[in-house]
Amino acid sequence: MRLEEQPQPAGESPWETALAQLDEVAELMGLAPGVHATLRCPKRALIVSVPFRRDDGSTRVCQGYRVHHSMTRGPAKGGIRYHPSVDLDEVKALAMWMTWKCAIVNIPFGGAKGGITVDPKELSRQELERMTRRFASEILPFIGPERDIPAPDMNTNEEIMAWMMDTYSINKGYSVPGVVTGKPVSIGGSRGRSGATSRGVMYIIFAALKELGLGIEEVSVAIQGYGKVGGVAAQLLHDSGCRVVAVSDVEGGLYREKGLDPEALNRYKRDAGTVVGFPGAEPVSNEELLEIECDVLVPAAIEGVITVKNADNVKARVVCEAANGPVTFEADKILNDRGVFVVPDIVANSGGVTVSYFEWVQDIQAYFWSEKMINDRLRQIMEGAFYEVYEFAAEKRITMRQAAHWIGVGRVAEAHLTRGLFP
Ligand code: GLU
Repeated sequence: MRLEEQPQPAGESPWETALAQLDEVAELMGLAPGVHATLRCPKRALIVSVPFRRDDGSTRVCQGYRVHHSMTRGPAKGGIRYHPSVDLDEVKALAMWMTWKCAIVNIPFGGAKGGITVDPKELSRQELERMTRRFASEILPFIGPERDIPAPDMNTNEEIMAWMMDTYSINKGYSVPGVVTGKPVSIGGSRGRSGATSRGVMYIIFAALKELGLGIEEVSVAIQGYGKVGGVAAQLLHDSGCRVVAVSDVEGGLYREKGLDPEALNRYKRDAGTVVGFPGAEPVSNEELLEIECDVLVPAAIEGVITVKNADNVKARVVCEAANGPVTFEADKILNDRGVFVVPDIVANSGGVTVSYFEWVQDIQAYFWSEKMINDRLRQIMEGAFYEVYEFAAEKRITMRQAAHWIGVGRVAEAHLTRGLFP
């Protein structure tokens, strides 16, 4: 079964998970009921139809979304994904997580997300460009450097951000690099942005290992999702001395107890289009990969892959959520009861949006930083966020996820209360 076709148990959808996480922490922290009620709903949601011309001259119409969950602490920020599973509820959940994520790393953004319900693999490059430009035009009144700044997410990349930036800029009549992040360096992108989420995941794994008394060179790592985030994380972790024993993509996975060589794997994947079939490794399914004997499990693909059905079988000591929402609300409880150290998505994968913030700052100042400066500042922010959450969790005797939500929701709530309710 392909990864994206795995069934999700009822009651464990991303939106239900996001609401359950908020409700739980609202109770723990004694959140004011009015603020709680406000934060349960997105600020606004836009549904657009995206008609575009196919190469054969016919017209296809896809549904697109852009949701602003919160703008209380600054412009809304979040990625755009192209995937068949995209619907309003998924985008609402992802936008809410962006709000907490930006608050945890304390960057002055609210949360947003967008997407188009489409399988981009079915489109030619020209069709992808026409669809992207039409989508950018449809959400144009919603976005802007002071308003809402899109970025890449699942199945979107630098090139798609360049088309969005160009469409916006043509409409305005001048170049507006700060309208999107994750764009090519040649048009105002930031050095270090493309690997930032993976680099952040690595810093978080190192901090977690240190706290658990495990050495980097003695651990084995399994990574679900060998894409922009998981693939680069595999390389960085391997280069740092970890043994990457298993990886997978939508087609399936691989296991090699002695460790895989990401460089050879990347070469193989470039030709084969998948990691499946890589010589010298045992094939495993995406379901099996999650249950593999390893120290660190990195779900870096989609939401809802660790559920009540398989949480009991996870053998890793550390789960580092590189994807957004890979563990459902009930599954999280099972992992915690079993003593698995879970670093939640809103901390673990916040490196991407952190360097997006650096990119936006560089764009609006028109002053660009070195890669070293970006990586150093990223490391500082990631370690700072990890330890703030870790120490708060210990102090309150709560999980890392509860502590992360408490801090994130707390910062947003404070901003709400300070600004007051209009009118
Ligand atoms: N899509 C990434 C995320 O989920 C990055 C968002 C951004 O940089 O705005 O965090």
